[in-house]
Amino acid sequence: MTDYSPLLSAVPGIKHGFGNKGALLPELLLPYHATLPEKKQVHGIRIVDVHHPAQTCGEADGFFTREPGILISVLTADCLPVIFSRNDGKAIAAVHAGWRGLLDGILEQMAQHINREDGTANWVAAIGPAAGPCCYEVNEELVARFQEVLPLPPELISPQHRHLDLAAIAEKKLYALGFAAVDRAGSCTICTQNHDPRLPQRFKYTSYRRNSHRRTQDPSHPGIKGRNQYSGIVITG
Ligand SMILES: [Zn+2]
Repeated sequence: MTDYSPLLSAVPGIKHGFGNKGALLPELLLPYHATLPEKKQVHGIRIVDVHHPAQTCGEADGFFTREPGILISVLTADCLPVIFSRNDGKAIAAVHAGWRGLLDGILEQMAQHINREDGTANWVAAIGPAAGPCCYEVNEELVARFQEVLPLPPELISPQHRHLDLAAIAEKKLYALGFAAVDRAGSCTICTQNHDPRLPQRFKYTSYRRNSHRRTQDPSHPGIKGRNQYSGIVITG
């Protein structure tokens, strides 16, 4: 039931996957768990070059490596995970992009990072499970800010009153930044039901927002700290 990107699955020499509530880290990435960089995601736009397994990265929301065997990942629970690969599998990257990261330009930062010695035209990107336009309601001021700042059709940014479509915004940006191809894997983290009969839970993904709603109604409901799902990618060579 793990989500995969057809685009990334076609790239040689890499493994990737998007976790969910039943498998926070996709099973095929488990052997690489100890190599994960140490990091703190802060909804910022800082991107780190990863050279060593378990590298200390500090506060960062984007990761880039050419080293085989090092798993890079982002943790999300409604925000948008985007993972990237060079089309020959020789370099990979991952980004955590919530609404703030999208507005502040984390995808642009990653494109710049790639363009230092390479070009985004040699890269593909996959957008993972996140809060969908069906459920991601925000205030009107935020929708207006997006529509003001981004040169995109207003109905693409917000297909429904006060709802944001993070994935559609990211996809448009990635194409505008010159990536060769972009696809999407997974579905809305807030409303997608679990269809795996082996798992007890009602919903497929962990969702910060769904959880905080339930906690408001029932304060004894457990929080999800440390229960975010991983979107990860590794060069296997
Ligand atoms: Zn939804």
